[in-house]
Amino acid sequence: MNSSAVIAIHGGAGTILRASMAPEVEAEYLAALGRILEAGQRILAEGGSALDAVTEAVRLLEDCPFFNAGHGAVFTAAGTHELDASIMDGRTLEAGAVCGVKRVRNPVLAARRVLECSEHVMFTSEGAEAFAAAQGLEFVEPGYFHTDARYRQWELARGQQRAMLDHDGATLAAGAAQEADAAAGKAGTGEDGLPHEPIDPNRKYGTVGAVALDSHGHLAAATSTGGITNKQPGRVGDTPLIGAGCYADDATCAVSTTGSGEMFMRMVAAYDVAAQMQYRGATLADAAANVVMERLPRIDGRGGLIAVDAQGNVALPFNTEGMYRGYARVGDAPVVAIYR
Ligand code: ASP
Repeated sequence: MNSSAVIAIHGGAGTILRASMAPEVEAEYLAALGRILEAGQRILAEGGSALDAVTEAVRLLEDCPFFNAGHGAVFTAAGTHELDASIMDGRTLEAGAVCGVKRVRNPVLAARRVLECSEHVMFTSEGAEAFAAAQGLEFVEPGYFHTDARYRQWELARGQQRAMLDHDGATLAAGAAQEADAAAGKAGTGEDGLPHEPIDPNRKYGTVGAVALDSHGHLAAATSTGGITNKQPGRVGDTPLIGAGCYADDATCAVSTTGSGEMFMRMVAAYDVAAQMQYRGATLADAAANVVMERLPRIDGRGGLIAVDAQGNVALPFNTEGMYRGYARVGDAPVVAIYR
């Protein structure tokens, strides 16, 4: 038995500014991260697998309206939602992924079923939904993913004719709201009476992921997202790609990423952390920092990752202003954070 069982999660990285985040909003985010870590921690404490712990943590993150995955996903340029998710078992190197699903309530559960029940690794759009339906997974109407805050964020991104990371869109939305308030001679409060935040106090923002080491010494990783605001329909980022957005191998580490997906794909970011450990003998901290702080910035890659190795070391590097993140060792209180 391995006594260093641990789970780490993220809720996305981007322009998250402490100066414009109200304390009560910050507290809500930290509480949500803490609750979800505790759920994963319980599974590990009972001797459950890393695979089960990351599946449950990401399922809860998808259901939580604060984050850009499942309920609360960002809008595409067509005003729709297209969700991506992946999962990998470090014990067997088995993996599963879905991309472009529009009605599966929890894409991570679909990815898990692909891992367990299919000879394939990845299914896309209608084929992924047909597979999920055959597996008896829960379907929802597309409206389930809609939130007003995300819609406003999308309208702003559309106005600028660009796609953007969820947190950057949130910051833009807050800036526009503050400008409108200033023009109207009002203080920085919205129509709901709440302060304008870079992160809407009631709603979402942030690709999600989890990595874990269980008490049997096995690693797993899972990642889920709505993608980036105003993305072209059919666009797929790093999240569902094994090696880019998600990777796990008991011999090295488990990794889940968040950020500008195109750059994470080009750097094969998640696998690069494992490869640096395997081929150049880097520590987890060194490999993770190299990918996030040196390699990704060379091509303007913005974001971060969470990683855990077979000894229970945890690394949570990011090169943006903030990343919703935390980890919990079995027996210890969860540690959660947002800013640098
Ligand atoms: N990496 C995700 C994507 O490109 C976005 C994010 O992490 O927020 O789809």
